[in-house]
Formats: sequence, C-alpha cells, structure tokens
Amino acid sequence: MFNQVSNFLLALAYPQACHICERSVEDFSDGIACRKCWKKTRIFCGKETLCDKCGAFLSESEKPVKTFCHRCDLDYYDAARAAGIYEKALAASVIQLKNEPHAAKTLRNLFISAFYNADFHDANLIIPVPLSKQRFLERGHNQAGVLADVLKKETKIKTDHKSLARKIHTPAHRAAMDEKARELSVKNAFEAARPEFIKNQIVLLVDDVFTSGATVSACAKVLKKAGASKVYVLTVARAN
Ligand SMILES: [Zn+2]
Ligand SMILES: [Zn+2]
Repeated sequence: MFNQVSNFLLALAYPQACHICERSVEDFSDGIACRKCWKKTRIFCGKETLCDKCGAFLSESEKPVKTFCHRCDLDYYDAARAAGIYEKALAASVIQLKNEPHAAKTLRNLFISAFYNADFHDANLIIPVPLSKQRFLERGHNQAGVLADVLKKETKIKTDHKSLARKIHTPAHRAAMDEKARELSVKNAFEAARPEFIKNQIVLLVDDVFTSGATVSACAKVLKKAGASKVYVLTVARAN
C-alpha cells in the first residue's frame, strides 16, 4: 500500500513521458516505459520453446523434448537465457541502463525471474561482461555490472567484476554491422585478468543484450580456458 501511494506521489511529482509512446508513466517502478508498452513487450514466461542452448525463441507452445536452433552449436557457453525479446519496453530499458547506473524495479524483477526460470541454480560466481577501460571511463559505469549486482542482492551469489577484462576497445556495435563483422570485432577482445579466481567455478555471465552470441561466446571461451567448469549466460533481452 505504502509503495503504491509513494509510486503514485512520485509519478505526480516527477511526471515522466514513456520513452516509446510518450504517454505518462504512472508507476515509478516501470522506469522509462508505461504499463501499456510493458504489456506489449514479449517477456518469456517459461512455457515457450526456446533453443535449449542459446535460448533463441522457437515457438509459443512448449515442446516435450529439448530443441536446438543449431546456430549456436559452436558457441562456448553451456546455456544462455534472457528475460524477453529485445523490443519496446525491454529495448528502451536496456538503452536507459547505458545512460544511468540504475535498473527500475520492473526491470530488476524480470531479470530475477529470468534467473529462476533458467536452470542456473548451481552457479557460484556472477561475472558481468566487461567494458574496455576507455568505454568505462566514457560511460562511468558498466550496465552489465549493474545487472550483476541486482542478481547478487537477490541470490547472494558473489560477483566478480575484475577477473574478466576487455583488453581491446572495439567500436560500438551498429545495427549495420553484420554478424561476421561483430564476431571478428570481439573474437580476441577478452582476457582472464585473474584466472585463479575463475578456476573450477560455475560462472553466470551477465550482459544487457544477447545479439548474435559472439560477445558472450568469446567471454565463455576465455573463462573456460581459465578453468571455469561451466559458463551460463543471462541477459535482459535477446534479439529475436
Ligand atoms: Zn508507452
Ligand atoms: Zn541455439
């Protein structure tokens, strides 16, 4: 009750326009998108068929057997899941997270639910996909680091922001960049800065978006080389 009242008062005091449709956001918890836009955003509920490895959306109905898209066969992570499709409220929230080191409550809850829907319960170390030093200085925060801390607070699994590093400053991914170019740009971008902290760990790698999988696969390759026994990937959104 108190929350409802305070959200209502906050929305009155600081009316914010939805970044998608420009209606006013009535609930402060929804962040920068209104309830209607959140409702139109495809969020996975755990009943749809996803590629058992990379989490690609395959069909609306649940299949009784494990299904694979096979585009991810060569990727180095063990499994990847996301809260939903990179569109509407989820896409706008991901963009906002790059500008501001804060995840609104709705986004936090969706990310936490995605963790519980995925079978990642044996993970014992959360590692955010790192930014290069240059990008970190430009931005002032790592959006994946913010998400890693959200999960840490909920699950009490420890986070490690230092053992994986991005040694090469790669250009920001533009929409025009095709899959091959993207893969090449991240292929050798990561290194294990403290391999002794990674050895024998079941790592949950966290990022904002899963696009082609090239970034998280490159990270997983480095983590496995440093001795990680498994690498799971959890992102807020994934490309359809
Ligand atoms: Zn809206
Ligand atoms: Zn797949």
